Amino acid sequence: MTDCLFCKIISGDIPSTKVYEDEYVYAFRDINPQAPTHVLVIPKKHVSGMSAVDEMDDASLAACLRACRLVAAQEGLNDGGYRVVSNCGDHACQSVHHLHFHVLGGRQMADTMA
Ligand code: AMP
Repeated sequence: MTDCLFCKIISGDIPSTKVYEDEYVYAFRDINPQAPTHVLVIPKKHVSGMSAVDEMDDASLAACLRACRLVAAQEGLNDGGYRVVSNCGDHACQSVHHLHFHVLGGRQMADTMA
């Protein structure tokens, strides 16, 4: 999509710090990290968010989750653990309407989902 920030990151029109890429997925460092490791994993094919995953092909969807695991391992998060979050819609404060998974780690997370 021409008007989508993350599509522009995938195309290279907006710079990013890549940590992983394959046929289906692009992963890069969040510009405003909320933890020592904060990576965004996104599908290369535009989809607006979790509420639209039924529009995705299974290969892209599976690749996103596999990439979250791979990125976490690559970032050295397996021992300490990590959190994978996808905000969907206004109540969850989704700000970019291109599906993304936050991979967060490197510190103790709060014992709440708020
Ligand atoms: P969300 O609020 O769940 O939609 O997450 C969007 C995320 O995108 C936020 O954590 C932002 O910090 C991040 N973000 C916005 N613009 C950029 C950018 N140009 N490069 C990297 N991360 C970005």
